[in-house]
Formats: sequence, C-alpha cells, structure tokens
Amino acid sequence: MYKIAVLPGDGIGAEIVPEAVKALKAVGEKYNYGFAFTEALIGGSAYDAVGHPLPEETLNVCQNSDAVLLGAIGGHKWENLPVHLRPEIGGLLPIRKKLGLFANLRPCILFPDLVNASTLKEEVISGVDILVIRELTGGAYFGEKTREKTADGGEKAADSMCYTTFEIERIVRFAYEAARGRKKQLCSVDKANVLESSRLWRETVVRLAAEYPDVETTHMYVDNCSMQLIRNPRQFDVIVTENLFGDILTDEASMLTGSIGMLASASIGGKVGLYEPAHGSAPDIAGQGKANPLAMILSAALMLRYSFHLEEEAKVLENAVTTFLQQGYRTADLMEEGKKQVSTTEAGDIIAQLILKG
Ligand code: NAD
Repeated sequence: MYKIAVLPGDGIGAEIVPEAVKALKAVGEKYNYGFAFTEALIGGSAYDAVGHPLPEETLNVCQNSDAVLLGAIGGHKWENLPVHLRPEIGGLLPIRKKLGLFANLRPCILFPDLVNASTLKEEVISGVDILVIRELTGGAYFGEKTREKTADGGEKAADSMCYTTFEIERIVRFAYEAARGRKKQLCSVDKANVLESSRLWRETVVRLAAEYPDVETTHMYVDNCSMQLIRNPRQFDVIVTENLFGDILTDEASMLTGSIGMLASASIGGKVGLYEPAHGSAPDIAGQGKANPLAMILSAALMLRYSFHLEEEAKVLENAVTTFLQQGYRTADLMEEGKKQVSTTEAGDIIAQLILKG
C-alpha cells in the first residue's frame, strides 16, 4: 500500500490531477497495488477555503505520505494578496523547502510522434533527450526580499540570490550521479561572468569535476544556454543549474517537446518526493477541458520510478502515453491536421485503458 497525497491546487491543476490519479489506479489494478489517495488543499483554493495557501493540515498529509502529487497553483484572483499569502510564495515555495526537495528533475524528451507539434524544425529537435536538474530550495526565490521608499519618491526592491557551498555541492553531486546513468555529459549553467553566487557555483563544480573523471564536464553561461537550447539542443545530456535559471530554461526547453503540457517533473531530496508538471495553473484555458494532462501523468510515472522504485510500472505508464500519441490522439495544445482532438478527461480515460491493456 502506497500513500499518496493529492494536491490539485488551482486552475487546470484541478483538471489534470484526476487524470494522473486515474492512470495510477489503472497501474494499481493491473499490478495489484493499493494506492491510498488523500486529497488536500494548496494554493489559492486553500486560501479561499481556510485563509492560507499552505494549511498545516496539508503539510501533515504530505509528511505522512509516501509521495505527493501536485497539480499547479496560482491565478489572477490571488495576485494582489499580501506577499506571504500568495499561492507561489506562501504555498509552493514553502512546501518544497519544508519537504527538503532540493533537486528538481525535468526530463525533456521529445516523443517521436510529436516531432511536428513543436514550433522548431524536425532536424533540430528530433531525438532530444535532456535531463535538466534544477536546484529548488535556494537562490533568489528563497533569499531575502526587501522593498523600501527612496528619496525621489520611488521605491527600491531587491531579491538576494544566495548559495552556500553545501547547497551547490549537494545538487551538483546529484547531477553527476544522474549523468553517470546516462551519456556521462554534464553541462553546468551559471552566470559566473557577472554574479558572485555563480562564481561560487562554478568554482564548486570545477572542484567536484575532479571526483567524476568519467563524466565530461562543461560550463555555459545561462544566456548562451538559452540560445544553444534552440540552436542545437541535442548537444545536451544533463544540465545542472540554480533555481531561477532552471525555472526559465525549462519553460524554454519544454517547446523542444512540443508543448509545455509535456514537461513532467520530480522534486526529490527529502523523505517524501513531490511530483508536478513543469507548467503553471494556465488560467487562460482553465475550466474548458483543453488542458494537456500528459505532463501530470508523466509526473506520476516519475513518482513510480523515484519514490516507489517501480520501474516496470513507470514504463507501462510512459508506454501508454507513447501509444496514445501514436494512435493520433492530441489535446488542443498539440493539435495538428489529421489528428484526433480529445479533451483532458478523454485523454485520461484513453491512457488508463492503454495502461490496463499494456
Ligand atoms: P502557465 O504555465 O500556467 O501557462 C503558460 C502558457 O502555457 C499558457 O498559455 C497556458 O495555457 C499554457 N499551458 C500551460 N500548461 C498547459 C497544459 N497542461 N496544457 C495546455 N496548455 C498549457 O504559466 P503562466 O500563465 O505564466 O502562469 C499562470 C499561473 O500559474 C501564475 O499564477 C503562476 O504564478 C502560476 N505558476 C505556477 C506554477 C506551479 O504551480 N508549479 C508554475 C508556473 C506558474
């Protein structure tokens, strides 16, 4: 029996999470596992219900589970709340910190059937398979934030980007181990030509590289990396980078896979792993049945792999997604001529059936 905390959150989070639960139930039925799901509130919907984006009860549910499935949080409705009550700052960031989830893994893989769904050319993206490892509990998102009035009647605002040697070593070692299980190429992305935190980052990577002589280490500035991801993404195997850079680069990298609705993620490092798509709550399409649930479903596959060590079951789920695409089903974001458009729930139903048959 695996205990899973289910946190749908806001916007399309509430639409895609049930589809991942469907997929997990199909896996449970096929392999005779019991998955016990406990739903809890997070984000704007938690604020509306109980006055805080991360209620104590939600944290308890997560800490007493084997893994957490999270949809997405945020939306226009909550943008003007006091900072500490905003879904992102009061909900998402603290849950990551409190669960000790310092490593965010974002596999950026192009399913061959989606080669025409991307805005990029086939010859550039065909065969893309990148693992981006983003540091998740440090950097500017967690550094001191200040805001003060200035003499000229304006304001001054600052977010400090802080990293310690310990934090950098921890994520970089993690990335080296991941690279060892892949093509043994690690690209560390920083902005060491300008930022002091990046200089410490680079010095630390240079020092650790000596301990991993079997892995080829390269360094790239983040501005160059954002260009190289579009110019020649196949040059990358594993990318390791700090929090803010990883956030931005992975939204960009998602287009290599056809849609941001394809990018799954696993946040690990603590006792309980958290699995969520890389995208947000997409208020522009929420409630219309248009959301692509595949990133969420693929995040559930990562849960099976990393939290439960059920590799075969994870593959069954991923294969169901491959077959779904091979059979020509597409949600609106991936739609092209000659394909069959399906809604969020139809996609989840088809995938659950494919898991049972697979
Ligand atoms: P977003 O990722 O929600 O949406 C960006 C664009 O991608 C939108 O056009 C949206 O329709 C589309 N999109 C995203 N996911 C999709 C899916 N599964 N299927 C089809 N299309 C999809 O980013 P945003 O619009 O910048 O932010 C919206 C809200 O989400 C904000 O409140 C933001 O703070 C929050 N956010 C939350 C998370 C999270 O929960 N982890 C991450 C990023 C943004």
